Amino acid sequence: IICFKQVNKSFGDVQVLKGVSFSVGRGQVVALIGRSGSGKTTALRCINGLEEIQGGQLQVCGRSLERGNVDLLALRQEVGIVFQAYNLFPHLTVLQNITLAPRKVKGIAASEAQALAMQMLGKVGLQDRAHYYPEQLSGGQQQRVAIARSLAMQPKLMLFDEVTSALDPELTGEVLRVIEDLASDGMTMVLVTHEMAFAKSVANQILFMHQGVVWEEGDGQMLCQPRTAELQQFVSNGL
Ligand code: ATP
Repeated sequence: IICFKQVNKSFGDVQVLKGVSFSVGRGQVVALIGRSGSGKTTALRCINGLEEIQGGQLQVCGRSLERGNVDLLALRQEVGIVFQAYNLFPHLTVLQNITLAPRKVKGIAASEAQALAMQMLGKVGLQDRAHYYPEQLSGGQQQRVAIARSLAMQPKLMLFDEVTSALDPELTGEVLRVIEDLASDGMTMVLVTHEMAFAKSVANQILFMHQGVVWEEGDGQMLCQPRTAELQQFVSNGL
């Protein structure tokens, strides 16, 4: 469903992705790990066209994301993304936040959009908060609403960019559990995370990025037995 082939990306003079190659199959959960600045977020953002690739090939949901040749609206209906900052609209209720895009972008009728929103709120365990405003919710609850909002577009795959980094440790677990549930439902997901234990438990495949390339890849076992000195160091420093 995703295929990176020697993908390059620079910002000005700084080459951030230097020939990134990996693929993700339907229903797979892939965790991107690595030091700050290794290119994880940039790679993730290329998948839904938030960054334009400059070299190599990138295929997502059967579309070729070549320069200037991407139907971003169509792509983003198929690829949901959740960020570290939840970005909910503060003046809208939870329900209104979730129904907005299905109604405006997909043209779904209000009643249908509401039913869908309630179903997605059920998935994140927040049906009883439908009429609350974001500021009345905890950070963990807001992040779960942000996930429900993305799911309401019925994407084919979901991207998560350090979605627990801004949360207090006691709120992290509830968000990670939602992601685990999505994994058991068979949702295809790519997540950038610093939560190594979580990456190990939820991901079928872990990609360790270093200096703009996929340096090492494998399953959870790879974190216990790194092949490269760089991953060894990353795992032991916990950085
Ligand atoms: P972190 O864990 O800190 O988020 P990361 O591995 O996700 O790190 P990226 O966010 O992909 O790394 O950033 C890689 C490099 O690209 C960094 O050096 C960053 O400063 C640079 N970079 C990212 N986005 C931009 C941008 N829009 N303009 C210029 N430089 C950027």
